[in-house]
Amino acid sequence: MGSVEFIIKGGRIINPSTGVACVGDVGLKGGKIAEIDFNCSLSLNNPSDVFDASGCIVTPGLIDLHVHAYEHATPLGINVDAHCLTRGVTTVVDAGSAGAATFAGLRKFIAEVSKTRVLAFLHIANHGLASAGCAGLVPGGEIDSLVQADVEQCVKCIGDNRDMIVGVKLRLARAISNDGANEEEAYRRAREAAGKCGVPLMVHHAFSTVPVNSTEGRSSCPGSLKSGDIYTHCLHGNNGTMELQTRTFLPEVVDAKKRGILFDTGHGRGSFNWNFAESAAKLKDWPDTISTDLHTESLPSPAYDLVTVMTKMLHVGMPLYDVIAAVTSTPARAIGWEKVIGSLEVGREADITVMRLEDWDVKLEDCHNQLRTIEKKLVPVAVWRSGVKHPIVEHIKCPNPEVAATLAGIWHDQVMRDETMPPNSV
Ligand SMILES: [Zn+2]
Repeated sequence: MGSVEFIIKGGRIINPSTGVACVGDVGLKGGKIAEIDFNCSLSLNNPSDVFDASGCIVTPGLIDLHVHAYEHATPLGINVDAHCLTRGVTTVVDAGSAGAATFAGLRKFIAEVSKTRVLAFLHIANHGLASAGCAGLVPGGEIDSLVQADVEQCVKCIGDNRDMIVGVKLRLARAISNDGANEEEAYRRAREAAGKCGVPLMVHHAFSTVPVNSTEGRSSCPGSLKSGDIYTHCLHGNNGTMELQTRTFLPEVVDAKKRGILFDTGHGRGSFNWNFAESAAKLKDWPDTISTDLHTESLPSPAYDLVTVMTKMLHVGMPLYDVIAAVTSTPARAIGWEKVIGSLEVGREADITVMRLEDWDVKLEDCHNQLRTIEKKLVPVAVWRSGVKHPIVEHIKCPNPEVAATLAGIWHDQVMRDETMPPNSV
């Protein structure tokens, strides 16, 4: 052929943005995708220039829409090259670790030196998650004061950094907002900043004083969100989106889905519940995007990495094609980057992930130490970021019963549990 320098050969190409799911070759040249050939006729003389992907799935480089990437500057920050790129993720979107006052460091010390592509939602609070804990179990958080929740500074920072900032982030929770007193106003400011910039707002909404349904003119979540905004932690298992007894989505959530609000898994340390995911699966209601909310406290268990969260969604019945779309084309579109990432097309930067679906027989935990026996897992086999191949590294021990056990008692009364399932459901 001569027109390509490297070939990923004979894999099953799944590229939801173009509706493709069939076997083919992908040819790379100069860091870009030079050819996609469904006749599998690409060839090069040197065997080291050909990667045999037979039996594997070839997808656009995976996008993790909710990660905490600000290592060393925030307690939640992880090293994205060590924990994301080595597991097949080529783009991470930091979910509000930085605000307007701390964003320059996220760019200089993380994004500019990482091999992983790093984009960001900017926190409405100027200090971002500089000292925030995980889930508000300990009082004290980023909107205890509204002084730093500054719309103008947020808007200016986004305007100055359009190449990296893709939206606004806010956590709504009583424990991080002066016992709930500041939630509604911070929410209003975050919506105002996102609206002024024409970018989506990503909201974490759990154990919040902001109601699900709107009453007496108050704002609500997801009721006050607009089309394109992102509700993260949608499978957390408390009564934020699903009615706990009937295990059906609240009418406000059904309405929000119809209005175009996107629902994101954001697994994290407290936001994936097997009962909840299984109940949503019965309704054939899949999250729009699958993300890890990977941070220092979700990494050792129970989130681990993006392929493990994808594996959990496969286990509850989400079709493989939809799982791939939820980590490629859909998150790319959600942040307005669909022309750059999330699709395998000739002329694009070669961000490519190769995975295999393997037999497995392991009990995997949710955030409440409930277990399910997993029979198939997605395993990353190879990854290219801008045409450069990076090593895949085996992740930390999974499952991790020691860490998972410490989560078992948390939120026990407030989430769906196996033992509280109604008798007519299994
Ligand atoms: Zn998060």
